[in-house]
Amino acid sequence: MYYQHAEDTIAAPATPQGMGAIAVIRVSGSQALSIVNRLFPTKDLTQVPSHTLHVGKIIWKNQWLDEVVVSVFKAPRSYTGEDVVEISSHGSPVIVQRILQALTEAGARMALPGEFTLRSFLHGKMDLTQAEAVADLIAAESEAAVQNALRHIRGGFSAELQQLRNQLLQFASLIELELDFSEEDVEFADRQALKQLLNAIDQRVQQLLQSYTWGNVVKHGFQVVIAGKPNVGKSTLLNALLNENRAIVSDIPGTTRDTVEELIQLNGLLFRLIDTAGLRVSEDVVEQIGVARTHEKILQADMILYLFDITQITQSEWEQALTWLQELRKPYLILLNKTDLSSTLPKFVKPNQQIMLISAQQRLHLQELKDRLVEMAQQSRVQGEGSIITNARHYAALQKVKQGIQDIYLGLEQHISSDLLANDIRKCLHDLGEITGEVTTEDILDYIFSHFCIGK
Ligand code: GDP
Repeated sequence: MYYQHAEDTIAAPATPQGMGAIAVIRVSGSQALSIVNRLFPTKDLTQVPSHTLHVGKIIWKNQWLDEVVVSVFKAPRSYTGEDVVEISSHGSPVIVQRILQALTEAGARMALPGEFTLRSFLHGKMDLTQAEAVADLIAAESEAAVQNALRHIRGGFSAELQQLRNQLLQFASLIELELDFSEEDVEFADRQALKQLLNAIDQRVQQLLQSYTWGNVVKHGFQVVIAGKPNVGKSTLLNALLNENRAIVSDIPGTTRDTVEELIQLNGLLFRLIDTAGLRVSEDVVEQIGVARTHEKILQADMILYLFDITQITQSEWEQALTWLQELRKPYLILLNKTDLSSTLPKFVKPNQQIMLISAQQRLHLQELKDRLVEMAQQSRVQGEGSIITNARHYAALQKVKQGIQDIYLGLEQHISSDLLANDIRKCLHDLGEITGEVTTEDILDYIFSHFCIGK
């Protein structure tokens, strides 16, 4: 759907819906200046220099809609690479609506989600991974996610992939040249050097694939399920952690609310804390659904925090919990809570690294707990400074690249003919190119840009 009507001039609000001091409406396309001009009698915008601001009235059909500031960015020095006009109006949703309506009556059409960024991509202002990073940046919920998105916007990841792709491309051309001389049985492409390059690419791709686990933590947060019997202090602990470290974002679309999920930020990393109030077995059907969801959450979790009330703990309960935790095969910490009442360990509890004594209510040893959480989240962190994959599309494409590299390598070992080899290399180049957008299909563009918000 996106390739169609690329010549239209598009308009959309760039600021969120609802009341605010200022709202920004963005217009982009070859007619942007002349369309806004029809609403802006103060000045002839087609005659003003690029990158200038103009105060004036918006008047449409003899009606004064608002007094605004208009910013003019002329092609190609704009976000989209086209002529762009941004109208900063007063923030009432009614004003925004009326200006948008006037713009569409004057010849613009409403932009589709992500269409401004799509145009930026189509005009070569950014590649696909950078466009995707724009969406990630807007959705970023933690310091680490912001930093990672910014790194991708700066383009380090694309540059690296392009370099690998160019090296492979050189080999492809040499091998294709051999096809022209097939009768003479010559080899222009040094097979040994090609193998070395394949090894280097394979190693890098493997590192990138491995970074995805950490990338998920950076982008979506580290999921911590808080488990334990009723009254051991789970909600108290959750609140104690939230009070100081609540993340900015509170409402995440698409999450079910039958388990309590709260976001906190520790050391710039996002943690999703999930309180499993429903972890008791119940005859009640509704509650059982809650329990099933809880188990689902536990399966998805990156780690478990299991709470006990140190004054109430029994040996059988202790053993059951240990068995359960070991069977889950996930990282866990056992918290013995309410140590303000008693700090004597029961005889059957042997202290170890995975057991911590805290008091949620009195906030004892909470800092140690937070440090441990950060440490556990960082265990999947990849060594070195390289790029981190946070995007499922890139992960899938890199898996194809890895397979492709192995196929080429195998072909070389088996001395397959140059034309088959050239085919394998082309396929691999295609998969690499799909990541940055050197090769695109409409499906890929639709997939990426339909996930954007309107106005970006
Ligand atoms: P949950 O059912 O596991 O979520 O437990 P709650 O957080 O609702 O706590 C149950 C009771 O234990 C409440 O009365 C809390 O005030 C109390 N409580 C929680 N943590 C502590 C603690 O560290 N020390 C003491 N003395 N009481 C606590």
